[in-house]
Amino acid sequence: MLAYRHAFHAGNHADILKHFFLFHSLSYMIQKDVPLLYMDTHAGSGAYSLHSGYATQNEEWRTGFQRLLDYPGPIPASIQQFKDFLEQCIADCGRYPGSPLIADRILRTQDRRVFYELHPTDYEALQQYFEGSKQVSILRSDGFEGIKAFLPPPSRRACIFIDPSYEMPSDYGKVVAALKEGLRRFATGTYIIWYPLLAKETAQALPKELLSLYPGNRLHVEIQTEHKRERGMYGSGLVLLNPPWALQQLLPEAIPVLTKILRETGSELRADGTEDETSPSIPACRF
Ligand code: SAM
Repeated sequence: MLAYRHAFHAGNHADILKHFFLFHSLSYMIQKDVPLLYMDTHAGSGAYSLHSGYATQNEEWRTGFQRLLDYPGPIPASIQQFKDFLEQCIADCGRYPGSPLIADRILRTQDRRVFYELHPTDYEALQQYFEGSKQVSILRSDGFEGIKAFLPPPSRRACIFIDPSYEMPSDYGKVVAALKEGLRRFATGTYIIWYPLLAKETAQALPKELLSLYPGNRLHVEIQTEHKRERGMYGSGLVLLNPPWALQQLLPEAIPVLTKILRETGSELRADGTEDETSPSIPACRF
């Protein structure tokens, strides 16, 4: 059962967070000559119209991309570069880019792209977009299993982007199992795993479980955008294993500003996510 369609959510606060890290990770990784494998285990359809179709239903892009465009304060160079990149993508293809397009634009001809997408419509859209691209393989099969098929890569360099919809409760266990398997086969790969902030126990436990699999070089970033609530997503986070070293340098400057940009206007959040009208606002982020 695949009811989830990313087009409803394209450009929302979660996309901005994950795409910011994807953009910078790959931009650093291509600075070495050695060919890179980019694997997107949950690719989506590649590009999304924000002004027609599904995206118009809840206009979730207003919680992310629009806030980035409207933010009045000064922004660090790392956020400016990302914003310019997105605007250029939209100018060139007329739609908000998903992870496969973002990656494809950054990667070089010697780098291989592997995209997994199960939904037939999104799979077809991806195929059409990348038709004739020699470096791209698109598979309509389970991306969690894909880790077994492509790791370790011959060049021993890879970025694996794991971005499930968590539509199925089993996704929580599968993402942990897939990461475990990935690390067993290829412990030096760069893994970027996205997860939603949700009140339910399995979601709360996930980042700890992911981090427990790897004691080495890793990053954990979480941005709470709204008050914690019983139903619905109130922010999201990323676990990055073996991120490029230079990425760590960006964080102290970038994350507090990204949090301000993405946080719901007018919401004063304590660090624990509860509302506080009397004390000054505390950026609800962790890194
Ligand atoms: N990574 C995309 C981006 O950043 O633009 C968004 C991906 S969306 C969150 C998750 C996608 O995974 C959906 O398009 C869904 O159809 C697909 N999907 C769900 N389960 C899958 C699986 N086991 N293997 C591959 N794709 C899957």
